[in-house]
Amino acid sequence: MVLFNHNTKINNKVMYYYVNQNAQENGDHEVHQAGCPHMPDEENRFYLGNFDNCREAVAEAKNIYPRADGCFFCANPCHTR
Ligand SMILES: [Zn+2]
Repeated sequence: MVLFNHNTKINNKVMYYYVNQNAQENGDHEVHQAGCPHMPDEENRFYLGNFDNCREAVAEAKNIYPRADGCFFCANPCHTR
């Protein structure tokens, strides 16, 4: 019997991520997916790039802001604080 590799990507749509250049009250810089209703204003957002998931986006944001964290609404799996 042949075992197929089911590890292929099902959802390969590109997602665009932004980080808020303004810190939250707790010092976090939130990472948002394009289209999130809680996106920061245009002048306060920094484009991170397109990523498969929020973890990669937050990792990228941490190069700029060590206290980056996923948005509760659009990047909940990466929201840790
Ligand atoms: Zn968001």
